[in-house]
Amino acid sequence: MRSLIDIVDFSVEELHELMMTACDIIDNPAKYAEKCKGKKLATLFFEPSTRTRLSFEAAMLELGGTVIGFSEANSSSAAKGESVADTAKVISCYADIIAMRHPKEGAPYVASKNATVPVINAGDGAHCHPTQTLADILTIFREKGRLDNITIGFCGDLKYGRTVHSLISALARYTGIKVVLISPEELKLPGYIKTDVLDKNNMQYEETVSLEDAMPELDVLYMTRIQRERFDDADEYERLKDSYILTVDKLANAKKELSILHPLPRVNEISVAVDKDPRACYFKQVLNGKFMRMALILKLLEEVDVDTKEDAHELVINRIFCKNPKCITTTEQELEHVFKLSDKESGVYRCIYCEEKAKI
Ligand code: ASP
Repeated sequence: MRSLIDIVDFSVEELHELMMTACDIIDNPAKYAEKCKGKKLATLFFEPSTRTRLSFEAAMLELGGTVIGFSEANSSSAAKGESVADTAKVISCYADIIAMRHPKEGAPYVASKNATVPVINAGDGAHCHPTQTLADILTIFREKGRLDNITIGFCGDLKYGRTVHSLISALARYTGIKVVLISPEELKLPGYIKTDVLDKNNMQYEETVSLEDAMPELDVLYMTRIQRERFDDADEYERLKDSYILTVDKLANAKKELSILHPLPRVNEISVAVDKDPRACYFKQVLNGKFMRMALILKLLEEVDVDTKEDAHELVINRIFCKNPKCITTTEQELEHVFKLSDKESGVYRCIYCEEKAKI
């Protein structure tokens, strides 16, 4: 059975196939209107969401299926102390497919190991958000006609912005990508993404604090919100919250064919006046997200019988322990601490749930 936990669970060919299905859905919606008749999607949202949850729900309804679920942890048995593993086993009795958002990194992965139906990661802490990436790549593909040979600037909170982490991992498999990382010092991209994704794939990248300096070379500008809910220090958030505000003036030296993306919600990092600019693509991105989620649900339901097994050779179990306080291993009962060899040359092991580097 297939699940989607990390965007790299799908090959470039599979991502292309999903985009083609999404384009076909856009052109021929009636053809898909009953494809999921009799199927149920469970949306388990332990963290707030507007777009992702409603997008999944709209996607399933437009495929002729139905939806059950909850939208806050307090209204589920998590409030009584139920584990993610038990929740996944229980919901598997009610639904054919699960979309889960959770504040702990690796929680949807734990769910996928315990569910008997496919699980989709709808965002796990600051870790990743693969279905946002599906929306992002379809938007880039439809706007630019390609996913290769693109200079993309990521601006804002690159430390906690999980959508950034997932999109960089996806783009690492295409050629000619240049990444410009625009952030304050405190919110730089996590080191593991630089070493394991950018460096490992020989991707060209640079870091800067200046959006204005980066602007002229960009084909795509991916703006992000400063992720207030992930800060341990409220004063630090206050200091950094207005780091970047994209205004009409700042677009003066941008390319005419620039595409501006944002996973939303927007706080103040893009002036509302920019919405009228034809380069603003963030509302189109929302719609693309629904079509990609439809394509994803179809694919996972078609592949429920596909056999998937982890390579046990590279795993270290319960000999080292994850030190990331935001990892699911800190709350889930009796969960094995499992590390996987992520880089054979340097012998680096990473937690299979949150990707924290093992400290031996
Ligand atoms: N909606 C995106 C997410 O869930 C982006 C954000 O919240 O800033 O990660």
